Amino acid sequence: MTPPPVDRAAAAKAAVAARRARAAVKNAVAERRRSALDVAETAWAGEVTAPESTLRVRELLTSIPGIGPTRVARIMADLGIADSKRVGGLGVRQRRILGDWLAHREARGRTRSKLVVLAGPTAVGKGTVSTYIRENYPDVLLSVSATTRAPRPGEVDGVHYYFVDDAEFDRMIRDRELLEHATVHNSYRYGTPRPPIDAALDAGRSVLLEIDLQGARQVRAAMPEATLVFLLPPTWEELVRRLIGRGTEDAAEQQRRLETAKVELAAQDEFDVKVVNHDVAEAAAEVVELLSASDARRPRA
Ligand code: 5GP
Repeated sequence: MTPPPVDRAAAAKAAVAARRARAAVKNAVAERRRSALDVAETAWAGEVTAPESTLRVRELLTSIPGIGPTRVARIMADLGIADSKRVGGLGVRQRRILGDWLAHREARGRTRSKLVVLAGPTAVGKGTVSTYIRENYPDVLLSVSATTRAPRPGEVDGVHYYFVDDAEFDRMIRDRELLEHATVHNSYRYGTPRPPIDAALDAGRSVLLEIDLQGARQVRAAMPEATLVFLLPPTWEELVRRLIGRGTEDAAEQQRRLETAKVELAAQDEFDVKVVNHDVAEAAAEVVELLSASDARRPRA
């Protein structure tokens, strides 16, 4: 049945007004004037015709700063919410799942810090994520460690590491130039030079350290304000695949690596935030989001 012309005009006008009201809600979330959790709770407490209620879940999540459409699709799939669902149209169970997810995310936002430490088990992809951040988020200072190991082909002194000998490493420890240091994989020594970090933090810049678990624990003790991030593999099987996938190690070495990975994974609850490395760009965006300088949150265009 076609409505009479007058009603059609009124309906079109109402639709425009409703769209505008939804756009205002999205803007408020994008500009951090309102939290996404507040929008959801308003939807669930109020009228079914309220803009908060008729907003699609996908639109609500996309308006949260720092979350792109690819991640929204993954988050919705993980939460089991269909793409077309509106916030007010969610059932009791889905409301609880989405509410918990948003609350957890907001609690995480409060742990934002200027100094973020990225650690995680061997072969999880820390190096790839930190390289992605160096190349795509120039406002974040990625700390350059000192190491006693030799450069690999393509590694540049002062860019990837400061390559130093044992005597120089000892001197840096003695002169208290290192924020933390550790012997990694029972072989070479690695440490974080402190002066560049202090200078960057004093200048208001965000700093990221990509170091091993022992180093992360030392930073926690020296600078409790740091946010510690643990990078997780999507599944244990995937980590096993990445660890032994190259097939260059014998069975005993593979077994030793798996045992190490288990011990390393057991440390995850010491960390403030866990990020799953499904996709390098997404994991990098999540890490950068934890750094408080707003200018650091924007990837290079
Ligand atoms: P690679 O030799 O493969 O570059 O790094 C080996 C390991 O050393 C990685 O797990 C990396 O996170 C860790 N590492 C790199 N720099 C530092 C550092 O300054 N301190 C500590 N504790 N670990 C580091």
